[in-house]
Amino acid sequence: MKGSVYQLKGVSYTYEGSGAPALDMGELSIRGGEVTVFTGPNGSGKSTLLALLSLDITPTKGELLLFGERPVPSRHRRRIGILDQHPYLFDTTVRANVEWGLRARKMVDGMDGQVGEVLDALGLSSYAERRARKLSGGEMQRVALARTLVLNPDILLLDEPTAHVDASSRERIESIVMEWVSREGGTAIVTTHDLALAHRLGGSAYRLQDGRASQTGVDNVFMGHFVGGVGGLFDTGHIKINVAGKRLGEAVTLRAEEVILSTHHLESSVRNNLYGVITDVSLGDGGLLMVTVDCGERIVASITPSGWADLGVSVGERVYVSFKASALRVIE
Ligand code: ADP
Ligand code: MG
Repeated sequence: MKGSVYQLKGVSYTYEGSGAPALDMGELSIRGGEVTVFTGPNGSGKSTLLALLSLDITPTKGELLLFGERPVPSRHRRRIGILDQHPYLFDTTVRANVEWGLRARKMVDGMDGQVGEVLDALGLSSYAERRARKLSGGEMQRVALARTLVLNPDILLLDEPTAHVDASSRERIESIVMEWVSREGGTAIVTTHDLALAHRLGGSAYRLQDGRASQTGVDNVFMGHFVGGVGGLFDTGHIKINVAGKRLGEAVTLRAEEVILSTHHLESSVRNNLYGVITDVSLGDGGLLMVTVDCGERIVASITPSGWADLGVSVGERVYVSFKASALRVIE
């Protein structure tokens, strides 16, 4: 399912009785068949955005299109699976929770097999007969995800799915979402205030701030630490990056437009110079190409189609990647 799944045209949403919009998105398309991540602090509008995308609320202004048409909740709602931040589980067994939606839709043929499969994928097989509400937070979150996935949605909306879960549940949830996207061609939209999660999930990432979305700064997110003592050298564990200015923080970001690709080594002391293999080229906003180069870390560069043609390289070939130390932003 490539192409736009959602198109937001001047969409804003204002809660009743509130003066300012909680969300003011402007123009935004969300592509199908990949993971799109929205990061942002508390109150930035993440849950409101998911409520719009899940058709629970309708825009106060503007228009939201789903699969190119105005959505009809009664018809489109069942193509959307939702994982709430604090999911409600019934006070019964894990299995009965997961069967619930299938039974409600009278889809009981082959139910045992489908439920078994999804419980297995989420590492819950041995919990099937346990009472769902007696499980840990992370396990309950997995049950809720299983209950959603078993209904075979086209779109999966996840609201801070890993905010309050243990590390092993977090890894399970992340990997099952990525697997679902690549195997089923599903479209996942995930909110988080965890920039590292945004980076791990890949795909498009947007930052929400006071209800406004920007793609700025999250084309590339590198997690790691500053090497003690000399200079602003940031170590990701795979590459070392020269960073100008502030030297405290666990992540640095780099905009794709700041990254220069070349077929020869650029000599300059202010630059970071790396070398890697091109792994992907895709169409970005404004007709630019987004080129991913694996230099030990995946680095995304934007380039005009003519610039790309001039380079004369293609996926699988090697290029030099460079960017200024001053192009990096440090996130604490
Ligand atoms: P996030 O999920 O990023 O924490 P929310 O979407 O929950 O952000 O909230 C965005 C803004 O909308 C905040 O200012 C919040 O106070 C406000 N808001 C959220 N829900 C409601 C509501 N039901 N009524 C009024 N204001 C709300
Ligand atoms: Mg929220």
